[in-house]
Amino acid sequence: MSKSRYPDNWEEIAKERKEAVGWKCQKCGIQCLKPEDNRSKLTISEIKRRTLAVHHANYQPEDNRPENLIPLCSPCHLSYHTRRKGSVSIGQLSLFDYIEANHF
Ligand SMILES: [Zn+2]
Ligand SMILES: [Zn+2]
Repeated sequence: MSKSRYPDNWEEIAKERKEAVGWKCQKCGIQCLKPEDNRSKLTISEIKRRTLAVHHANYQPEDNRPENLIPLCSPCHLSYHTRRKGSVSIGQLSLFDYIEANHF
């Protein structure tokens, strides 16, 4: 795991970026879940779909300039990492879990 490549305050940096864009995916524009949003009526798939992650545009986690940090929903984020075009099935989100783990 490469968690050490992230700064100590990564979660803070990521949260700031998410707040700056109103918790919206910068690719497809979907409104993602805020920490305070009620998830009790949502399925796990919906929660995954609408979880915003902060992607490093140049794939370098050490580079935390604002222009390198792009908030993306799970399917869009996954598509950046798999470099596949088109739709992403929920089943593929298990790969996303791995990516997510490396992003935080
Ligand atoms: Zn998206
Ligand atoms: Zn990423």
